[in-house]
Amino acid sequence: MDKLIIDARLNEYTFREPNPNIPFSPEEIARDAAACREAGASIVHYHARDPETGAPSSDPTLYAESARQIRAACDAMIMPTLGANTVTDLDQRISHIEFMAKDSASRADLAPLDLASISLGMWREGMAEVGGDDLVYYNSVGILKALAGRARAVGALPLAAIWNVGSLRILEAFVQTGVLPQTIFAELFTTEGGLIAGHPGTRRGLQALVDFVPESVDCLWAAACYGANALDLAESAIEQGGHVAIGLGDYAYPEIGGGQPTNAEVIAAVVEIADRKGREIATPSEVRERLGAK
Ligand code: ZN
Repeated sequence: MDKLIIDARLNEYTFREPNPNIPFSPEEIARDAAACREAGASIVHYHARDPETGAPSSDPTLYAESARQIRAACDAMIMPTLGANTVTDLDQRISHIEFMAKDSASRADLAPLDLASISLGMWREGMAEVGGDDLVYYNSVGILKALAGRARAVGALPLAAIWNVGSLRILEAFVQTGVLPQTIFAELFTTEGGLIAGHPGTRRGLQALVDFVPESVDCLWAAACYGANALDLAESAIEQGGHVAIGLGDYAYPEIGGGQPTNAEVIAAVVEIADRKGREIATPSEVRERLGAK
């Protein structure tokens, strides 16, 4: 079994209510990344945020400064977002990755491609109407090919974000045709907390994806859940040889750390499960080698 790869999902677009430990500024992101690395994460994923207000930001200098400070603080692989809040313009989505690559100290190691176009509907039981009327996460085949090509051109290794079984078929097709590398890290997303675009965040919801991970691909898949506690899915993944993507960006984790844990405490909870299951934890250099990254 491969050693366990843990991706710490630091902040997404989450605010500090109910958990104040969401990092916004480059300094906060780097400090948090180093603590997660210390706890066992080998990859750190972040979104640039306004340092004061936490508003989503597409400022490439914030992306680059965060990466520079993470790299100075630890050896974790660095993965900024490519999603940029449902922006459809190709240049806007990739320009921060290209900007970061101008300096080896701030370059991105990994760039996540969401292999699906999805309606971001919001609904919870009891709501009279479904929200998210105009929210579509647009990822046409053409856009994905272009993003993959431009990321690889500047040394950022693409990884796949998987939303449904169709995503896994695109993954296989892209690997077979050389758009994506032969060995690839793929995060299998489930969604809860009102976001109804993904599979349910249950073992069955996850397994429906795991069952369709293409056999022809050297795919290192990771369990993830946006909007709910992912530790049970993490345990399932650890048992099956999968990996884990988890953090306060997805969910506040009131169940651990006295109710307001740090990202590092969430990572430590995953490591505890891995220890109990006898699964070793991968270091960043081991993940780099396994994925053929720089
Ligand atoms: Zn993200």
